[in-house]
Amino acid sequence: MKVLVVGGAGYIGSHMVKMLVKAGHDVVVLDNLSTGFRELVQYGRLVIGDLADVHLLENLFQQESFDGVMHFAANSLVGESMVHPSKYYRNNMSNTLNLLDVMVRHNVKHFIFSSTAATFGEPEYSPIDEKHPQVPINPYGASKLMVERVLQDYASAYGLNSVCLRYFNACGADPEGELGECHDPETHLIPLILQAASGRRESITVFGRDYDTEDGTCIRDYIHIQDLCSAHALALELIVSDKKSGALAYNLGNGQGFSVQQVIDVVQKVVSKDGCSLVVETGVRRSGDPAVLVADATLAKDVLNWTPEYADLETIIRHAWAWEKQSNTEF
Ligand code: UDP
Repeated sequence: MKVLVVGGAGYIGSHMVKMLVKAGHDVVVLDNLSTGFRELVQYGRLVIGDLADVHLLENLFQQESFDGVMHFAANSLVGESMVHPSKYYRNNMSNTLNLLDVMVRHNVKHFIFSSTAATFGEPEYSPIDEKHPQVPINPYGASKLMVERVLQDYASAYGLNSVCLRYFNACGADPEGELGECHDPETHLIPLILQAASGRRESITVFGRDYDTEDGTCIRDYIHIQDLCSAHALALELIVSDKKSGALAYNLGNGQGFSVQQVIDVVQKVVSKDGCSLVVETGVRRSGDPAVLVADATLAKDVLNWTPEYADLETIIRHAWAWEKQSNTEF
C-alpha cells in the first residue's frame, strides 16, 4: 500500500512509519517539523509542509495515489490548550478538515486518526470502554472529539472509512533503539523520570500524593509505542480489506493501571543496573489530572485481533531507558 503518514516526524508517527516500511508499504511523511524532528524520519520520504496549506495538499494528492492516510499531527498539551484554545481548534480541527477534504476530492477512502482518552473527560467509571460518555474538559480533548464527530458524517455522506484510536499513555521506544520519545518541552512522566536518572534533570516531582488511590499517586495506563503502532496497522488493514466500514473508534491501552510511584520504582530498578539513581520530590496536584485513567481495550483486541506484545512495565521502561542513554550525549 501507499500510505501517507501526517506527523510522521513525531514520536508516535516516526515509529509508525518504521513499522509500515518494514511491513513492505510505501510511506510518504508529511510534517511541518513544528514539534517533530527530521532525524526521526529514518524511513519513508519526508515532505515538509503544513496542513493549513491546501495547495500543497492538493499537489501532493495529485502526485501520489494513496491507499490510506494516518494522521498523527496535532498539538497535544492539555495545559497549553486551556491558554491557547485557538491554536488547538485551528490545528487539530480545522487543519484536519483540510486533510479530510483533499482525501474526499481524490477519492482516498481510508483514514486512521489519533484520538485520545481526553475525549472522555472526567472518568465516570473505570476501566473506560467505548460506551463511556465523551465529555471533554479541555480544548485539546474537545478538538479531537470534534474530528471524531466529523468522521461520522464523512463516513455516511462521502463513504470515508475511518478508525479513531483513543490513546491512553503512549510510552516506551523502538525495541531496536533507532527511535524514541523526544518532546521539547518534555512534559510526560516516563521520559522526565529517565532524564532525572541520566542526569539531564536534577529531580522528578510527583504531582500529588493525596489522590484516592492505594499509594496516593495517580494511576495511568501506559501502552508501549510498538503496541500502539501495531494496532494502527491492524486498523488500516481492517478498513482497507473492507472487513469493516464507516466511522469506527477503539480505546487503546494496556488495560492495567500503574501509579506514578510504581513507575518510579520500576525506573529505579532498571537504572540501578547502570549505577544510576534519581531524586524524587513531592509537589502539588497538576490541575485537570483525574486520579485514575485506565482503558478497557477489549473491543480493540477483539475487532482488530490485536495483542499487545510489550504490556510489561519493566520492558517499556527498559526500551525508553536505552533511548535516553543513547540520546543523552552527557551520559
Ligand atoms: N506526572 C508527575 N510528574 C511529572 C509529570 C507527570 O507526577 O513531572 C504525573 C501526572 O500527574 C499524571 C502521570 O504522571 O498522573 C502521567 O502524566 P503524563 O503527563 O505523562 O501523561 P497524561 O496522563 O497527562 O496524559
